[in-house]
Amino acid sequence: MHQMKCKNGKILVFSAPSGAGKTTLLNYLTKNIPNLVYSISATTRPPREGEENGVHYFFMTQQEFKDNIRDNKFAEWELVHGNYYGTPREFIDSVISSCKHIVMDIDVFGKKKFDQAYPEAVGFLIVPPSMEELEKRLRSRNTDDERVICTRMKNAVKELAFARTQGRYEFQVVNDDLIRASNHLLELVKKVVNG
Ligand code: ADP
Ligand code: 5GP
Repeated sequence: MHQMKCKNGKILVFSAPSGAGKTTLLNYLTKNIPNLVYSISATTRPPREGEENGVHYFFMTQQEFKDNIRDNKFAEWELVHGNYYGTPREFIDSVISSCKHIVMDIDVFGKKKFDQAYPEAVGFLIVPPSMEELEKRLRSRNTDDERVICTRMKNAVKELAFARTQGRYEFQVVNDDLIRASNHLLELVKKVVNG
């Protein structure tokens, strides 16, 4: 019997202020590169309608989550709006050891913590061409009310400043023209996963 050998897959971390186009670009990437797997986080938030355990999140009780924190099972975790969210190390390790690459969607602050657990992770910062354009996109998405848009714009300023001064991103992609940015990101990711 011989065992199939492969190099460990890569850990790709994508950060962007909300509305910059990360979801759009990541969908394009996963369609065009085989062997990319989205990371699944754990949370204590109750599932929303249609959400499945092990598909959208690993849903846990507070006690289970705290036990996992104690046992160092998370690469990073955060309390967000009263619920815990974390990135399970085991899921990442099982993906990369099966020759697949893992796509992590982590905010700029979470990325900083994540780097301590996985310093080999490769960071991609997706930025809007301007703050005016970011605001336009948040409005055009039609998912948030005025107050939420205002909060997201304020957060975007803080996140971009943090990413540029304290973040470690190997690549920065300006999402100006969607086709150009998609292809640019695709080429960069291909180089990383094949390199
Ligand atoms: P994020 O996941 O970063 O919050 P989305 O992918 O949801 O952002 O994109 C926000 C909005 O902007 C969506 O309506 C999307 O269709 C649009 N969008 C994304 N990229 C571009 C682009 N390059 N040019 C114009 N609109 C874009
Ligand atoms: P939602 O409940 O809407 O799915 O997510 C709420 C927030 O939790 C989002 O801002 C999302 O980015 C964040 N989040 C989701 N998974 C994780 C994770 O694994 N770690 C951290 N730090 N935040 C997460």
